[in-house]
Amino acid sequence: MNKSANNFYTPRFSHIYVEKNMKNHPMAQKILKRFPNARVIEIDQYQEVFHRPKQNFFVQKNSQKLILAEKKDHYFYPGAEVCHDFGNPHFYYSTNILNCIYHCDYCYLQGMFSSANVVMFVNLEDYFAKLDQMLEKHSVYLPISYDTDLLAFENVAPFTAEWIHYAKKHANLTIEIRTKSANYRAIRHLEPLNNVILGWTISPDFIVKHYERGASSLEARLANIRQAIHDGWKVRLSFDPLLHIDDWQEHYQECVEQTFTTIPAEKILDASVGVFRMPKDYLKNIRKYRNDSDLIYYPYEHMDGVYTYPKAIRDQLVQEVTQMIEKYIPKEKIYT
Ligand code: SF4
Repeated sequence: MNKSANNFYTPRFSHIYVEKNMKNHPMAQKILKRFPNARVIEIDQYQEVFHRPKQNFFVQKNSQKLILAEKKDHYFYPGAEVCHDFGNPHFYYSTNILNCIYHCDYCYLQGMFSSANVVMFVNLEDYFAKLDQMLEKHSVYLPISYDTDLLAFENVAPFTAEWIHYAKKHANLTIEIRTKSANYRAIRHLEPLNNVILGWTISPDFIVKHYERGASSLEARLANIRQAIHDGWKVRLSFDPLLHIDDWQEHYQECVEQTFTTIPAEKILDASVGVFRMPKDYLKNIRKYRNDSDLIYYPYEHMDGVYTYPKAIRDQLVQEVTQMIEKYIPKEKIYT
């Protein structure tokens, strides 16, 4: 009998840990209803499961458990310098969910957390109360899909829809929802808003297949983008992280051509281009556990606490891919 390795693991979210004080929260209830067969375990604090000592992220990734928790502080973080701010002066990000259902080889989460279990902070109302205060003082630009792929989880936890409802009432807030999913249908019923940007990561098919395990194909992402544009949403394309793989010029050339023959370039809000980069300590952590990815063992250069490609390679990747994109969208819409 053939048995795949995965069969030795319990299915994803077979166990759900819930903080006692959150178990009756409407969002927690909504999520729990999606998993009627899960074993539900009450806990006091999510940290007792998520930060348990001697965990192995990579073993857990085969059978992720779900943790429903309350976020008590740090609802918003200042945007990191290595991330694009797209010209916005008040750039923050928020994390409603920790960890992801996809498993990209270049993902920093595998080096940041010792657990691959998924934490969902269900008390969105507290994020919104804090944001109300911030928005009284100034406008805010807020990517909401950091440390996860929020839209990929929408069928389990409809956080994206809640954020869009909130954005509708706050014109000086701009949110960005970035995804590698083809789950646009989960929010398609909502009215497109001027202050909501749907962002898709665009990667060559070769990279999707080899380094973005579980994520949607390029073709499926492009079909979603086409539909979203047609429906009136603002769409951002992120050619990020560019990877220095064999024959990268051919792969990116093909990818850029496929992208702009599928979607109307003139309707794209903007695009960002960036190379692989990862905090030094995270990459070191990953190297302790993984020997199955050439990406992890590339001889990166250390620069200000971050590992990235040597300057000549970075420049060549950004320059050449930007030139490919410039054939379709104007320079001033491309952020590098
Ligand atoms: S989609 Fe994003 S968050 Fe999810 S594994 Fe890939 S890089 Fe990490």
